[in-house]
Amino acid sequence: MRTLASFTHTYIPGDIIFHEGDPGCTAYIIERGKVDVSISRNGEKLVLTEYKAGDLFGEMALIDETPRSATITVLEHTEVIVIDRSLFKAAFDTAHPLINLFMHSILHNLRKTNQLLVNKIVTPNYLANKNKFNSKFLEARNETVYLIKSENELTQAINEKQFKLYFQPVVDATSEKIIGFEALIRWFHPERGMVPPNEFITVAEQTGLIQKLGDWIISDACRQLSIFSGKAPQVFKHRPDFFVSINLSAKQFIFPDLLTHVIKTLKAHKLSANNIKFEITESILMDNPETAMVILEKLKQLGFRIAIDDFGTGYSSLSYLHTFPIDTLKIDRSFVNSMQENSTSLNIVHAIIGLAKAINLTIIAEGVETEEQLQNLKKLDCNYVQGFYYYKPMPFTEALQLLQQQQNQ
Ligand code: C2E
Ligand code: CA
Ligand code: CA
Repeated sequence: MRTLASFTHTYIPGDIIFHEGDPGCTAYIIERGKVDVSISRNGEKLVLTEYKAGDLFGEMALIDETPRSATITVLEHTEVIVIDRSLFKAAFDTAHPLINLFMHSILHNLRKTNQLLVNKIVTPNYLANKNKFNSKFLEARNETVYLIKSENELTQAINEKQFKLYFQPVVDATSEKIIGFEALIRWFHPERGMVPPNEFITVAEQTGLIQKLGDWIISDACRQLSIFSGKAPQVFKHRPDFFVSINLSAKQFIFPDLLTHVIKTLKAHKLSANNIKFEITESILMDNPETAMVILEKLKQLGFRIAIDDFGTGYSSLSYLHTFPIDTLKIDRSFVNSMQENSTSLNIVHAIIGLAKAINLTIIAEGVETEEQLQNLKKLDCNYVQGFYYYKPMPFTEALQLLQQQQNQ
């Protein structure tokens, strides 16, 4: 289990969070309550300032590991987020040396100024100004608090297995048969209920948790694919290329352990790589083409199929389509949505389909919601569709039932 680099702690009035001179490797953000910051001079407590909800303290010792320069005394019932140095260690260790230098230089100057100020008379005017944070700092602090809280929640959610994969059928519009499923993650939060992926995938990426979450997604999608093939074997017999597609986020894609995990999972479930499709976005290819090429070629050699997701919304550099080993283009929902009203969208869809056919790529239209959209796509010779018109994403058991019905038809 991952130890939390941050957690909350509660104090009662009179508690000392730390003493002047203590060693320090934690910072604190006040969630609720009030503390004062003091130093001891000639045996007397000299209060420098007070901190309240939203204020951050203790960060200096966390950065340069020097002893605490003041004592923090709790004035009211106070709840703090405790941030451990381990949260920063990896970032510090890998940061550009200049960043470390600047940080330490700023701290050094700040400590010197603080010392000078303390040695002078601490005027009320000084105290008032010291408490004024500029708006940039506030913004950064709010963002950090949000990220820290979300990271804790997500870590807990992973450990407590609060995630589930939903499956959205991809349909051959001519035969109306399901040709595969896209696996889409859902978070069943104990208080918030079902949380859609757009609300947590970015945080998972920013905090690095996507690696662990992504590994779970791959494992679970493979586990469920093996149940699909075991319980609806006729479907796989008639369509050996029946697939479950798995979304890979950019951070997950470039992580060196991805291939090892994928190979291990495939073996564990005795699956054929041909039944698994990975969906990546155009930006993954364009941001780091050399790395993308190496990873994609390995995946391809292993027999996996690759789809470009949300096609048309990214860089749309056409040259990569034949450079990279791609099998499928998924036309983004925005084009399909506006195809009826907007002739440009219709022309774009038409052009994408023509292009894909010319270089032998499978085309799937995303976000098909109406009969009209479906008919238009069929006219343009796009037969593979995914969208609410046929099915919404559904839990595993429903998806399996659908597949078994199809098997019996
Ligand atoms: P996406 O990969 O483009 O997935 C398709 C999204 O469109 C899904 O939203 C799906 O529910 C929605 N959709 C499908 N048909 C229709 C339709 O007819 N109308 C409308 N309005 N929407 C439709 P969802 O499940 O909320 O996922 C949103 C995004 O979150 C996904 O977009 C994908 O980028 C990301 N995501 C979802 N699951 C995963 C995952 O397991 N791993 C990663 N890395 N990202 C995921
Ligand atoms: Ca997708
Ligand atoms: Ca998509």
